[in-house]
Amino acid sequence: MSDESPAKVVSDTIAAIATPPGVGGIGVLRVSGPDALDICLRIVRRPGRGRPRARHAHLVRVVDPAQDERLVDEALLLYMPAPHSFTGEDVVELQGHGGPLVVRTVLDLLLQAGARLAQAGEFSLRAFLNGRLDLAQAEAVADLVAAPTPEALAVAVDQLAGRLSGALRGIRRDCLDLLAQMEAEIDFVDDDVPPMPRVKVAATLDDLDARLNAILAGADRGILQRHGIRVAIVGSPNVGKSSLLNALLATERAIVTDVPGTTRDVLEESFDFDGVPVVLSDTAGIRQTDDLVERLGVERSAQALTVSDIALLVLDASRPLIEADHEALRGVREAAKPSILTLNKRDLPRALGRADVAGLVPGAITCHTSATTSDLSELYAALRETIGGTTPNGDLATVASVRHKQALLHASEELQGSRRAVAEDLPADFVTVGLQGAVRALGEITGESATEDLLDTIFAKFCIGK
Ligand code: GDP
Repeated sequence: MSDESPAKVVSDTIAAIATPPGVGGIGVLRVSGPDALDICLRIVRRPGRGRPRARHAHLVRVVDPAQDERLVDEALLLYMPAPHSFTGEDVVELQGHGGPLVVRTVLDLLLQAGARLAQAGEFSLRAFLNGRLDLAQAEAVADLVAAPTPEALAVAVDQLAGRLSGALRGIRRDCLDLLAQMEAEIDFVDDDVPPMPRVKVAATLDDLDARLNAILAGADRGILQRHGIRVAIVGSPNVGKSSLLNALLATERAIVTDVPGTTRDVLEESFDFDGVPVVLSDTAGIRQTDDLVERLGVERSAQALTVSDIALLVLDASRPLIEADHEALRGVREAAKPSILTLNKRDLPRALGRADVAGLVPGAITCHTSATTSDLSELYAALRETIGGTTPNGDLATVASVRHKQALLHASEELQGSRRAVAEDLPADFVTVGLQGAVRALGEITGESATEDLLDTIFAKFCIGK
């Protein structure tokens, strides 16, 4: 098995706009590859001779050589020669004015001068292929820019700094050590390689698995912090759905970043709930109707329930249940999601209590709220209980991706396979199988055993220019 990064010959020079679309103070173009500087020098003019000094800012004029040297922009040119750049290749950054048209024009000039438009994530892919970042770190770059909450940002920064990679590499190295020992016993069976006492092999495997599981213990929380949780607010008209949504947003820190996967068919707002981004969707209410417009709304709300993680059914506690409430209750029952029933308008005289709704949605948590007086503490407690008692992972590295969690689970299963082989006193060959699997699974996280397909899938999710 190769322990090297997957080889991929990269020889061309790529360019992309690195700043977001729209108007800004500056607009940055990034060029990476062996011809980065030569390509830029074809379209920039600057006083003085010779090549620009590395890692110095040079004021240049960007011109269109095909149009009589027409001035396009003034910019700062930064040249970062290989290998000391983000990608590990020669990189040039042109920092010009931040207008969408001017940046686009400079990009076109770079492409005409010989650069190729970068694909999504290609800068990060090159950084990975050139050993500047491992795979988990490269993924952290994407997480860092998309982080919806300070907690998610802290996890991404940690991962970029190599915390998770370092922890996993340590475990992988110890797996490899044990594997080497087992293989030596197999290969040199006739020589005098004393076999490692099986109790010691068992203890080492247990220790490795415990280290994996300690990291895994924080994975659900890490994933929640990164992906957030979707809560569909449903219920019949006028029970206070919109009022509750507004009250929740008014008391919590609203999130401005889009949480991935947000649909736009229903009103959606996000807030930061103990570090977990919660995406609330207010729907038109589940209610059977013949009216076409309303039916569209109802379909959307059923859809919102389907894609949500939690159903929050709002009932008006100031009046008894009506048929529309029963329909909403049916919808939530059918969705079969973790559910919260909130008896809203508790500031008014009560006509509906917990006993009236007991058992209507199996497993649901019931609480009382008043959107009007912002009395939401029971709802917060219910949300906390539904989201789960996952706690931050203390000082350990945090796993924040489903892909990483699955690879860790796989590695752990493989180690347990080896452990069973030891318990059954099977020959060393049987012990090595699981260890090899664990090494491979861990290498898929940091990249040592990532296939080209896996890399393509991962980097395609990045934006262009990253
Ligand atoms: P939706 O149709 O379910 O979104 O309901 P709204 O949020 O539009 O609320 C319907 C009406 O109920 C409005 O007049 C709200 O002011 C009122 N309302 C909502 N929540 C409360 C509450 O907790 N207490 C009281 N007294 N009125 C409320």
